[in-house]
Amino acid sequence: MRQSQLFTKTRKEVPADEVAKNAQLLIRAGYISKEMAGVYAYLPLGMRVQEKIKQIVREEMNAIGGQELIMTALQNKQVWEQTGRWDDEKVDVWFKSELKAGGEVGFGWSHEEPIGTMMKSYISSYKDLPTTVYQFQTKLRNELRAKSGVMRGREFVMKDAYSFAVGEDDHNVIYEAMKVAYMNVFRRVGLGDDTYITFASGGAFTEFSHEFQTICEAGEDVCQIDREKGIAINDEVFTVETVAKMGVDGDKFVAYKTAEVGNIFNFGRQKAADIGLSYKDENGELVPVWMGSYGIGITRLIGVVAEKYGDEKGLVWPEEIAPFKLHLVGLNLEDQEIKDWADGLYSTLSEAGVEVLYDDRVEARAGEKFSDSDLLGIPYRLVLSKKSKEAGKYEVVTRRDGTVRELTEEEVYADFGIGDLKEGEG
Ligand code: ATP
Ligand code: MG
Repeated sequence: MRQSQLFTKTRKEVPADEVAKNAQLLIRAGYISKEMAGVYAYLPLGMRVQEKIKQIVREEMNAIGGQELIMTALQNKQVWEQTGRWDDEKVDVWFKSELKAGGEVGFGWSHEEPIGTMMKSYISSYKDLPTTVYQFQTKLRNELRAKSGVMRGREFVMKDAYSFAVGEDDHNVIYEAMKVAYMNVFRRVGLGDDTYITFASGGAFTEFSHEFQTICEAGEDVCQIDREKGIAINDEVFTVETVAKMGVDGDKFVAYKTAEVGNIFNFGRQKAADIGLSYKDENGELVPVWMGSYGIGITRLIGVVAEKYGDEKGLVWPEEIAPFKLHLVGLNLEDQEIKDWADGLYSTLSEAGVEVLYDDRVEARAGEKFSDSDLLGIPYRLVLSKKSKEAGKYEVVTRRDGTVRELTEEEVYADFGIGDLKEGEG
């Protein structure tokens, strides 16, 4: 993409009404736009990041047999009354409204009850099980506080998955596969080293649930972590009894600020019993389905990555979720010969499938281009200038650590995975 065509602009000044580093950086770099507290639009660059993360999650969900669908944002009151969760005393984040034709609707803050209820039309026999569905949905939650930027939105994108099984053994197979898929996701988005499967409070059906917590100063949670053993326990359930029951050495745990990037729940048969989702077993008996629920905060992940890797110069994206892999920065473009040559290199790279953002702005000065490039946080920057054209050498800077490499044109192609380009084109 040509930067001259990008409608978003970077800005130097920090938005006055944002205290969160993630929102400050994402707004300044033109990835998101603030509509109101806790509500952000995703602009072309931000959307590319979001789509990259979704695609990783999609691949991991598909790999364990998940089937993608999309539920509705408007929700049926009766569906939530089945489990008592229409009540504002039970759920404190509801947005609700009234229909002109009469009656109330809810705005989807979760889809557990609607999905379970919908599945009554499709699950009737043990032969229909197990099955797992998932979606990417914008959740609407009337959160009291929205000071953490995209890490706690009133409107945010979640991946939620639901499993339906005949019984506990069947359920556990899916639950364990989810743990692996989740850790694959967090590794692939660049948070693997600091993300832990964490024992957390289980709710009504099980003793513990599992959260996926990422060490992050801006996070709202505290976890006790034994990094050596890779064990994490949410501070909320880190008691003498828990430690004893789990047979771990309490002294080895250190408290960290963390952000919950995902969680998984075992509902047992209770949820399905409440909503009347049953199957006929081999003897023809009606049994409530064993359900599980699995969430990942897609937009929260963007915030966590911005918080953890962003530096004083701007954003720093891990390669797998960067909006572009390479930032071509053209200098001396007022010289038509340089411009034609730089345009040619941009075409060659992008036609070969490299995701390139090309700063082709003629007017902007070099300093401005470099500081914009740092702010945008694209993993690699390659400078095209009169000097590099004459030398036949290109400076490739790695955004994350500032490493500078001098590469020839061939080496550039090889580095970006298009080594056989020359042969192919003759
Ligand atoms: P939290 O404890 O942070 O309030 P939660 O326990 O309510 O989250 P779920 O309802 O299970 O979380 O949602 C699944 C995932 O969605 C969470 O693990 C988190 O990553 C993300 N998430 C939850 N609330 C928000 C929010 N307000 N803004 C952005 N992401 C969120
Ligand atoms: Mg939570």
